[in-house]
Amino acid sequence: GIEIKNIALSFGSTAVLKDITLTIEPGEFFALLGPSGSGKSTLLRLIAGFNQHQRGELLIDGKDVTGTQPWLRNVGMVFQNYALWPHMTVAQNVAFGLEARKLPPAEIRAKVASALELVDMAGLANRRPGQLSGGQQQRVAIARTLAIEPQVLLLDEPLSNLDAKLRTQTRQELVQLQRRLGITTIFVTHDQEEALTTCHRIAVMDQGVIQQVGSPMDLFDFPVNRFVAQFVGSVN
Ligand code: ATP
Ligand code: MG
Repeated sequence: GIEIKNIALSFGSTAVLKDITLTIEPGEFFALLGPSGSGKSTLLRLIAGFNQHQRGELLIDGKDVTGTQPWLRNVGMVFQNYALWPHMTVAQNVAFGLEARKLPPAEIRAKVASALELVDMAGLANRRPGQLSGGQQQRVAIARTLAIEPQVLLLDEPLSNLDAKLRTQTRQELVQLQRRLGITTIFVTHDQEEALTTCHRIAVMDQGVIQQVGSPMDLFDFPVNRFVAQFVGSVN
C-alpha cells in the first residue's frame, strides 16, 4: 500500500499540493478525481519519484521512499501520451525497461511475451506504434509498465486520447486486468463517470487539497461540500 502523510509541494512560490494525507490499501484500485490544474499529475509524479515534496512523508509498502530515485521504487507509471518509442517495435518497447535492468535475454523474451499476453497484444509484437490504433498503443504502454513487475501501477488519464466507444471498452479491460493482477493501482482522471464506474475508492481533489475520500456511493450520497456534490454529479 501507499501512505501519504501531510505532504506539501510547491513549485517556486506556488503551492500545488497542500497538506495531502491519504492511505491506499494493497491491491486497491484507487481513483484521483479532480478538475484540470487540481494537482493530480503532480501527486502521481510525486509517488513515482519524478517530483519531490518539501514537507511530509511518503511510504510505499511501509518503506519511506522520500528522496529515492524512481527506478528504486518498484512503481510503474503509464503517462497520458503513452510515450512509446516510434522507431521500436511493440516487443522492443516492452523490453526497454527490462534491458535497462540488465536481465538475461531469455528472461527478457519470456517477460515481454507474458506482458503482451496480459493485454492481448501478443499478435502485434512486431508492429511499430505508428501502425497501431490509440487503444492498442495504450495497451502496449500498460504492458511495458507491467513487464517490470511493479508493486504499484500509476495511470495518468490513460484513456483520455481514446474515442468514447474505445474508452468504455478499454476501461472495462483495465478493471479486469487490475482485478486479475490484484496490483495496487492509482488511476487519475477528470471524468467522474470513469472514476465512479471503475474504482474501489476515490479521492476528490481541488486546488491542491483532497476534498473527500470515499467509495463511489459515499461520494454520491454523502458529499462533504458543494464542490464534491457538483463535481461528482449529485447536484447541478
Ligand atoms: P490536468 O487534469 O489538466 O492534467 P492536474 O490536476 O494533473 O491537471 P497538475 O499537472 O498536477 O494538474 O498541475 C497542478 C498545478 O501545478 C497547475 O497549476 C500547474 O500549472 C502547476 N505545475 C505543474 N507542474 C509544474 C512545474 N513543473 N512547474 C511549475 N508549475 C507546475
Ligand atoms: Mg494531469
